[in-house]
Amino acid sequence: MPPTRRRFLSAALVGLTAKAERRVAGGFVLDSFAQGHQIRERAARAPATRQEKHAIVIVGGGMAGLSAGWQLQRKGFRDFVVVEMESSAGGNSRWGENEVSRYPWAAHYVPAPNRESKLVRELFLELGLMDAAGRLEERHLCHSPQERLFLHGRWQEGLEPAIGAGSADRKQYERFAGRMAELRAGGQFTIPMALGARPSPLDSLNMEQWLEREGFPSPYLRWYVDYSCRDDFGAGSRDTSAWAGIHYFASREHEEHGPLTWPEGNGWILERLAAKLQPHLRCGAAVHRMEKRGSGYAVQAGDCEYRAAAVIFAAPEFLLPYVMEGVPPSRVRYSPWLVANLTLDRWPREKGLEPAWDNVIYGSRSLGYVVATHQSLRSQVPRTVWTYYWALAEGSPEANRRALLERDWGHWRDVILADLERAHPDIGQCVSRVDIFRMGHAMARPEPGFLSRVLAPRREQGVILANSDQSGFSIFEEAQYRGVMAAEAALRRI
Ligand SMILES: Cc1cc2nc3c(=O)[nH]c(=O)nc-3n(C[C@H](O)[C@H](O)[C@H](O)COP(=O)(O)OP(=O)(O)OC[C@H]3O[C@@H](n4cnc5c(N)ncnc54)[C@H](O)[C@@H]3O)c2cc1C
Repeated sequence: MPPTRRRFLSAALVGLTAKAERRVAGGFVLDSFAQGHQIRERAARAPATRQEKHAIVIVGGGMAGLSAGWQLQRKGFRDFVVVEMESSAGGNSRWGENEVSRYPWAAHYVPAPNRESKLVRELFLELGLMDAAGRLEERHLCHSPQERLFLHGRWQEGLEPAIGAGSADRKQYERFAGRMAELRAGGQFTIPMALGARPSPLDSLNMEQWLEREGFPSPYLRWYVDYSCRDDFGAGSRDTSAWAGIHYFASREHEEHGPLTWPEGNGWILERLAAKLQPHLRCGAAVHRMEKRGSGYAVQAGDCEYRAAAVIFAAPEFLLPYVMEGVPPSRVRYSPWLVANLTLDRWPREKGLEPAWDNVIYGSRSLGYVVATHQSLRSQVPRTVWTYYWALAEGSPEANRRALLERDWGHWRDVILADLERAHPDIGQCVSRVDIFRMGHAMARPEPGFLSRVLAPRREQGVILANSDQSGFSIFEEAQYRGVMAAEAALRRI
C-alpha cells in the first residue's frame, strides 16, 4: 500500500466523530435483511392459497430480470411473470424522490455504449436515448463539470490526481493508459464480458500485484486504480482479480461523450422497462421455495404457487441454495455497500471549483457523492440532494455486513458527515436529512480466480441463472446481457 494512501486512511479511521451541527432527520430505508434472513432460515410459511400457470417464471425484478422480460416481449412472447420480493421492481437500480429531487438508491449512470454492446444500443434506440445514427440524446448526457477530486486541501478537475503529481507520476499515467489500449486491442476485454473473456493467467493475480509486476509504483496511480476497483466492484485492488481490474480500464472505447445520467440514476431506464412489463410484474412476493415437478417447476412466493415449464433465476445466485433443495452453496462472494441520500438546505461553501456531478475525496474510504440535481436546467438550485456511496471494501465482507446490521443510524450519519467535512467543513450546517440504505450483498466481487468460475456457468436442475453476478461483476450492461441471454435460453427450452 503506498504511504500516501496509508496516511490518509489512518486519518479516515480516527477522525470519525464529527456530529451534525443542527438536527438531522432520517433513518434506514429499504431494509430487506429480515426477509432475506427468513428465506435463509427457511422460516415456516402458510401454504399457497392460489396458483398461476405460465410458460416462464422470472425470479427477481432487477435489471437482469426485467431485461429477460423485455426480450421475451420483443419476441412476441407473453406467457411469463416476473416475481419480485420488494414492493417495487428495480433491485440495485431503484430510486427515490423528495420535495427537492429524484435520486438514485444505487446505480446512477451508464457509459456511452461500445460498438459491441449491441443490446444496450437496441434498448437506447427504443427508449429514445440514441438515434438510428448512434448519436446519444444530449439532454441525458452528463453535463459539465463531470468530475472533481478533493486533494491536498482543494478541489481539482477530473479524478486522476494532478495536484502534487510529479513528472514520474504523469509518465506512469501515460504508460498505464498505453498498456490499457494494448490490452483492449487484444480483444478479450469486452462489454458484455462473455463476448471476449477466455481463461487468463491475469486472473491468478490481484490488481495490485499486476501494478507491481508492470512497474507502476506511483501512489497516485495506485490510489486511482484502487478507487476504480472499489467503485465498480466494491473491492479494493488487493481483492480484485487483475483480469477484472484491467477490464474496468480496457473494456471501454474512447468516449467522446458520456456517461448518460439522470436525477434518479438508472431508475430512469428501470421505470420505462417496468412500465412495459407492468401486466407481468408480481411485486411484494419473495420466492421462498422452488422445486422440480415433472418436466416443470413449482415456485412458491407469498400466497401463490407459480407453475412453469422454465425458470429464470435473476435474483442473486447465493440465494438459490436457500430456496431449492440439493443446490450446492454459491462460490460468489458479495461486497456490502452503504448508500446515503443527503438532503441539503443550502450548498456548502466551496474552495475553488464549482460542484461537479461526481465528487471524490482523495484517501477517503468512501467513493464520494453524486449530485442528484446536476442535470437540472434551472439556473438556481437552492436545495439539493447528494447521493453518497461507500463500498465497505476494507476487511472481510462478512465482518462489514455484521457492522452494517449492528451499528445504528446515528453512527453511520456521523461517519458520513465526518468524511464529507474534510472537503466541506460547514456540511453539518447544510444537511437536514440523511437517509441510509444498507446493502448486505450488494454486488459480486471479482476476486482472483473469479473468471474460471464465470467461464464454467452453473447448471442447477435446469434453472437458468440470469443475475449480473453471472458475469462476476455488476454493471448495467452485464445485467441486461445476462437477462436477455436467459430469455433466449428459456425460449429454446420450452
Ligand atoms: C451502490 C451501487 C451502485 C451501482 N452503480 C452502478 C452504476 O452507476 N452503473 C451501473 O451500470 N451499475 C451500477 N451498479 C451495479 C448494479 O448492480 C447493476 O447495474 C444492476 O442494477 C444489477 O441488476 P441485477 O438484476 O443483476 O441485480 P439486482 O439489482 O440485485 O436484482 C435482483 C433482484 O432480485 C430480487 N430478489 C432477491 N431475492 C428474491 C426472492 N427471494 N424472490 C424474488 N425476488 C428476489 C431483488 O429484490 C432484486 O430486485 C451499482 C450497484 C450498487 C450496489
